[in-house]
Amino acid sequence: MNLLIDIATLNSVSATFYFILLVLLLIFWRQNRDIDAIIWWCGFPFFRLINALIGSDAIEYDLEFIVYIGNVSILLSDTSLMVGCLKFTENKTPWKIISVYMSAFIILCVYQHGINADLALRTKGIIIFDIIPIIASIYALSQLDNRNFAIEKMFTIFWLAFGVGIFVFWVLIDFEFNNPRYDTNVVLSLALAYLSHIFITVGLIILTIAARRSRLMIDITINKALEHDLEQTLEEAQIANEEKNQFLTNMSHELRTPLNTIIGYAESLKLGFYGDLNDRQKEYIENIYSGGELLLKLITDLLDLSDVEEGKIEIMLEEVNLTRLFDKTLPLLKEIVGKKSNRLKVINSISELEEPPTIQVDQIRTKQILINFMSNAVKYSEQDTPITLEVSEHDDAHYRISITDKGRGIDKDQRDNIFKPFNRAGITDKNIEGIGVGLSIAKSLIEEMHGSIGFKSKVGKGSSFWIDIPKSKQRQLPIG
Ligand code: ADP
Repeated sequence: MNLLIDIATLNSVSATFYFILLVLLLIFWRQNRDIDAIIWWCGFPFFRLINALIGSDAIEYDLEFIVYIGNVSILLSDTSLMVGCLKFTENKTPWKIISVYMSAFIILCVYQHGINADLALRTKGIIIFDIIPIIASIYALSQLDNRNFAIEKMFTIFWLAFGVGIFVFWVLIDFEFNNPRYDTNVVLSLALAYLSHIFITVGLIILTIAARRSRLMIDITINKALEHDLEQTLEEAQIANEEKNQFLTNMSHELRTPLNTIIGYAESLKLGFYGDLNDRQKEYIENIYSGGELLLKLITDLLDLSDVEEGKIEIMLEEVNLTRLFDKTLPLLKEIVGKKSNRLKVINSISELEEPPTIQVDQIRTKQILINFMSNAVKYSEQDTPITLEVSEHDDAHYRISITDKGRGIDKDQRDNIFKPFNRAGITDKNIEGIGVGLSIAKSLIEEMHGSIGFKSKVGKGSSFWIDIPKSKQRQLPIG
């Protein structure tokens, strides 16, 4: 019977196909580098390509040694396919068994080479060894979840089984490739084998895409569930926060009234409105008075903080002359410095400016910030150390007021905590009064006034805190 195409030509055609499949798989692997299986699957067309090239050149079987290399390539090809399938299905790869049976096959090839075995015998050897990795691949893929990629799985398994079927066919025709009676069958079966390899490769690619898609779907479901949980937690946290703020507001209001009474009476007693006091009584009244003041400050801070958090803080922006504001605030700051007998140095470099330094701020809130800076400077410094208060023109758009001390300074690790509410930036000494909210309030206040806050500090050397206040864009106010 005349053949339309001979085996050598078929080999050349298949070499082209294997090359295309290899390139396709390599591109696919480039996009999915995290899936190890693909690079192993690349071995499938790669080794087949080697075999096809050898087959097409050495079809006369003159160079027997090269033909044996082609046989080993076939086994390597299907072994790569199997390893890829095992990896894809997260099965363990039995490397020891693989190396033993690869070695056994090589020994068989050497033996067949030695006895100058004919093609039928050689083919028998390949089939016996090659059928195992293909069946192992079918077994591995059959473990895949039917719900997610039934069609892709069945498609790939079908073509793998088809390959096995062709092997069985060759067994039935007793591998007589050179028998003219079988020529058509051999060429046809070889062509079908090559076709099955194309479909196997396509199957592996669509299987991988299906697996990716199913993993993506799972991820989306998990993310949605997480998002839902997160929303719920956020909602609960918001409710809890509102309740906390409400509680703080109520409690602070309730505490302030009796506290003001205590402070008022203590002050009257201190001033001798109800008669003279002896030294011990004076000392105790002084303690009651200063304790009450401190408590009142803490409560006021807490109230401010809850207002800040709820966005309820009231800021009354007005055009102010900075020199005037500075002069009005100075006595308050001096009083704070005087409490621990620190030395206050004042540097006012705006008094000489030609234009009146106008700013738009809430005066009371600005004073509150400076009082907080000054109280901290005193609190975190030793007695008698100098504290510098400076007001200057910082840049074209801002004035800067800074307070610099030579106190304990702030640790580098604590820098990010300074403006966090209730964070005392590593201070554990209970004797240093404070609850760590002053600076967080100051930050919110100055930002509400469109300014900014900053600091620099060195442990053991001191700190400098400042606010930058934007210059007023409106007309400049006269001093006074
Ligand atoms: P409080 O002083 O009540 O703790 P603040 O919010 O005013 O709260 O300050 C936060 C933290 O910043 C303080 O606990 C302290 O650790 C640090 N700090 C603030 N000012 C200074 C300063 N001048 N020197 C050293 N540390 C400071």
